[in-house]
Amino acid sequence: MFFDENFVSLPVEEQWDYIIVHTPDRVRLGLSDIVSRHGETCVVNFYEALLKRPDAALFLERETVERRLRGSLLAWLKRLFPARETDIQELRALQERVGSVHAQLEISPNLVSYGFYFIKMSLTLLIVDYFGTKEEQLQACVYCQSMVDFAMTYMNKAYNTDFRKKVEQDQSFKLFSLGQDLHFEKETQKATFFDWSTQALFCLCEQRVGELQTIGESQFGLWLAHKGQTLFRGTEDFVLLQDMIGAIDRRIAAVRAEDGVPAGFAAELRNGIRDVTFLTNRLFQAMEALQSGLDPLTRTLTRHFLDGVIQNEIAFSLAHDKVFSIVLLDIDFFKKINDTKGHLAGDEALRHVAGMIMETVRGNDYVFRYGGEEFLIVLTESTSAEAAACAERIRSRIEKSAIPCSTGDALSLTISAGIATFQGGVKIGTLIEQADRALYAAKDAGRNRIEIFSRDR
Ligand code: GH3
Ligand code: MG
Ligand code: MG
Repeated sequence: MFFDENFVSLPVEEQWDYIIVHTPDRVRLGLSDIVSRHGETCVVNFYEALLKRPDAALFLERETVERRLRGSLLAWLKRLFPARETDIQELRALQERVGSVHAQLEISPNLVSYGFYFIKMSLTLLIVDYFGTKEEQLQACVYCQSMVDFAMTYMNKAYNTDFRKKVEQDQSFKLFSLGQDLHFEKETQKATFFDWSTQALFCLCEQRVGELQTIGESQFGLWLAHKGQTLFRGTEDFVLLQDMIGAIDRRIAAVRAEDGVPAGFAAELRNGIRDVTFLTNRLFQAMEALQSGLDPLTRTLTRHFLDGVIQNEIAFSLAHDKVFSIVLLDIDFFKKINDTKGHLAGDEALRHVAGMIMETVRGNDYVFRYGGEEFLIVLTESTSAEAAACAERIRSRIEKSAIPCSTGDALSLTISAGIATFQGGVKIGTLIEQADRALYAAKDAGRNRIEIFSRDR
């Protein structure tokens, strides 16, 4: 039929177009009719097959399938088999959009083509019933297979391009953060700043004010404006450091212009140097802690690794037929502590609570700082009852303890927590959302308590 030498040497898009154009109208209309009558069944077969695959369980869940995905697949199928002529460009663009979405969600082409097999099979059986002659049946089968397969070609192409981009972005970030030898950078920059400060103090002592250099003009300033910027950007301390340096530099520029040292300037400069050194050190320390994956205040894990850890636990649970639980824990009325005792006391309390959580869980569990005063605990191989018992131990320990506070008095706090258990079939985001819903139920029920997520709520 189509597979002569001419056909094979056509560009893919023209092959697809050729097939559409050379399929008799009656056959195309018939398929469109089949899809509008039985498309739903094909879609159900597609998802039922996929939902049984454990590797699909990582990103597919029954609820989303029923609520959203079935509808979009049916719409896609109807556009692939339209009653009227479609523009091939438009058809192709649609497949590319679908492929990009799959790349975003990391739904691999092999799973999609596995699902498409069930669509093609369902359609083939329907075709046999629908068309009266063998010839029409054959034409319809070829047409149906071609449409799905060409669509998949464009989907996969877009998937590959987008997925590669995504991986490259991840990798470039990793290479960036791993490529920095922070310890070396820290020692070098400490030395360059020290050079600048001795130089500046010498100029002052020897009354060579005209030769004073601003920090911005120094090697340290240059490093900060470029590499420091990428390394520390977005942190409060970095903003503070930049403001501080700006103020020092403006003073230096003014003194330089006057060509005379005002009284007390040396002491002022010395204090500035001390503050800049302190802040730079703290920035580096925070970066080092971040690089090792720990939150600098509480020494719990940062969110950076959360998805990786949960994904790993999901894979483990599926492979070994086990469950695990997550606990989302939030300090009650924490804002009041900050408001009445100050932010520093709040920080100490946070550190203390984190310490108690880490002492209570087992070595094979993970504690993350999830938000300001929220912690997320991954309890490996734990049922919801076991997780509730663990959360209860944490709750009671915290309730009973008097937290020492720099203001001299002791603080008492309580926490609320929500629990969700992975039993297959939900995504990471959903699992956390379930724990969050349970946490809010605990807050609503009066705080200082634990709630387990249940679908019936
Ligand atoms: P609820 O019982 O409903 O949780 O009340 P809450 O006051 O704890 O809740 P809310 O989320 O309104 O307030 C959380 C506060 O935690 C707000 C913020 O000021 C404080 N916070 C967040 N991160 C930090 C931090 O790192 N240090 C300090 N000291 N406070 C923080
Ligand atoms: Mg909160
Ligand atoms: Mg709170």
